[in-house]
Amino acid sequence: MVPAVPVLEPRPSLAIVGSAARFPVRRAFCIGRNYAAHALEMGGNPDREPPFFFMKLAEAIQPIENSAETPLAYPAMTSDYHHEVELVVALASGGKDIAEKDAMKHVYGFAAGLDMTRRDLQGEAKKLGRPWEIAKSADASGPVGPITPASDAFSLKGNIRLTVDGKVRQDATMAAMIWSVPEQIAILSRYFELKAGDLIFTGTPEGVAAVTRGQVMTVDIEGVTPITVRLV
Ligand code: MN
Repeated sequence: MVPAVPVLEPRPSLAIVGSAARFPVRRAFCIGRNYAAHALEMGGNPDREPPFFFMKLAEAIQPIENSAETPLAYPAMTSDYHHEVELVVALASGGKDIAEKDAMKHVYGFAAGLDMTRRDLQGEAKKLGRPWEIAKSADASGPVGPITPASDAFSLKGNIRLTVDGKVRQDATMAAMIWSVPEQIAILSRYFELKAGDLIFTGTPEGVAAVTRGQVMTVDIEGVTPITVRLV
């Protein structure tokens, strides 16, 4: 007799605007330095060098059900927890070597998200040439709001903004992305066979900074449900 096998928690799932169905999260890919002014603030070169990607654990995705203020746990092992406001793309299907012109056919919808980052640990990892997971995959470090299903009405050039305690910290338009959403899907699909349920965090504009317990962050991205979280 072997011991009873463990029962896993269900994987995270996201609310869908206009439906009681849930969107199951498979993996979360993230692109680095995808807005020129943010690349500069992180000490990078904003020229169109090839994009780079990293992962956030699917278990770090924290579903935010609606636009009401929602508590978000401040993680352990950091004293420099940074906000990165990002448009999140949810895939309905995937494949390998997806052509840029076909990429948007795989998109289920869009949501407001935060790529919360233990910047102190990331800085150390960069300095020592170590991987980023402990900086990027803290528990609850990927709050994502309800998914708005893709439609012609959604503009990938709309405004993207983050306020902290009512003060604007990040404010840009998604037209400023260095690598567009279809380009990101096409390039990622050369490295991985993309699949239904995959999320892509599409990068953050300039203005990243630390937040502390008690502070309230509001993500406003044109065309999707805003989210508001209080760090606890
Ligand atoms: Mn990011």
